[in-house]
Amino acid sequence: MGNKTFTIIKPDAFGAGNSGPIIEKIEKAGFNIENMRLLKLDEDSASKFYSVHKEKPFFGRLCDYMCSGPIIVMELNKENAVEDFRKLIGATNPEDAEEGTIRKLFATSIEANAIHGSDSDENAEIEINFFFN
Ligand code: ATP
Ligand code: MG
Repeated sequence: MGNKTFTIIKPDAFGAGNSGPIIEKIEKAGFNIENMRLLKLDEDSASKFYSVHKEKPFFGRLCDYMCSGPIIVMELNKENAVEDFRKLIGATNPEDAEEGTIRKLFATSIEANAIHGSDSDENAEIEINFFFN
């Protein structure tokens, strides 16, 4: 069980002015921010970051959306970080997300779903290295 995860406050949430409340929820849930940057992705970086989805029908739109505005990337620390963070953000589709989760509160669609969370310790490491080196 690892203690690191990686997150992105996505363009929809940043653009709607929800970064503050989202960061507050993350900190109140016991995560420590180890590293944080504000940036704008280009198509090349977005398609590298989401390369596992390159065969999916929504891949092109997903990359366009991830480049549509500024994002905040963060390295987070907590015991059992990956699993606990996925619980905090909720299901990919906000319609399926549990009450109180970040996606239930702030996501507007399955695509513009406010936040990313690493899905394994291995990917957390890869994603942290992708943005912080
Ligand atoms: P993330 O990796 O961003 O934390 P996730 O692990 O919950 O999200 P994935 O299956 O990895 O979900 O999908 C990556 C992202 O692609 C989703 O967060 C969403 O923005 C977008 N996405 C997923 N499925 C669809 C879909 N059917 N239509 C449009 N966009 C989608
Ligand atoms: Mg994912």
